[in-house]
Amino acid sequence: MAIQVLNCASMFPWWPRWQVGGVCLLVDTDQGPVLVDTGLGLHDHESPSRLVRFFRLDMGIQFAPEETAVRQVVGRGINTKDIQHIIITHLHFDHAGGLPDFPWAQIHLHQKEYEAHLNPKTWIERFAYDHKDFQHKPNWVKYEKITDKWFDFDAIRLPFTPRIYLIPLFGHTSGMCGVAIKDGTGWLFQAADAIPLNAEFDIAPEWVSRLILGLHPKRIKAFAAAHPEVRLLAGHTWRSEFNEDRIGKFNRSRNFDR
Ligand SMILES: [Zn+2]
Repeated sequence: MAIQVLNCASMFPWWPRWQVGGVCLLVDTDQGPVLVDTGLGLHDHESPSRLVRFFRLDMGIQFAPEETAVRQVVGRGINTKDIQHIIITHLHFDHAGGLPDFPWAQIHLHQKEYEAHLNPKTWIERFAYDHKDFQHKPNWVKYEKITDKWFDFDAIRLPFTPRIYLIPLFGHTSGMCGVAIKDGTGWLFQAADAIPLNAEFDIAPEWVSRLILGLHPKRIKAFAAAHPEVRLLAGHTWRSEFNEDRIGKFNRSRNFDR
């Protein structure tokens, strides 16, 4: 079973002057290739909503339709219709923008995230849900009941082989979840926007991290130190990582022929 890490949302903010990519996963499963998050979608590049235009200025989002999950899937020789399942960490525009590019897919997410996009409660939720991402009435598959423990985290088993769990990490949004995936070489934990950029826990002052990401960074930092064998990813990471460093090596070390 293979997991590929894709950059589906490059951002070059004015300050700090970072070059950042948005992490999506393409996972081989018994039910075909499954996406974990979609990044920005074609509509974000070609006819962006007011919200996305605002972030384009502020966060330096590039016009780069070739970065969308749908284009990268096609570029890997996969038929887009083979993507029947998408797992979503949370529904912010930079994670769920590609949903309309796969209107037939089942969208697996936490019940509370589904509710939050309908009725956002916190400022950060209200700010970053783009209703253009959901106009096609996605085929939601909602989960709430904890079924397992993954290490000491509460976990919800999703109906795929290899083993994939939703790990509730509420805070950044009310239904935000990480995703833990077992492949041939061990566990990958995509903690998404519950942890700072590139899992660099000291990148921002603690109060900033707490305000934007919620209460989890401290716990996940301790978990990562205790379990170096688990590959930890964040929702956003340095753009260079996708080609060169950890992620590039990770991608090159696997055989993706399907
Ligand atoms: Zn977010």
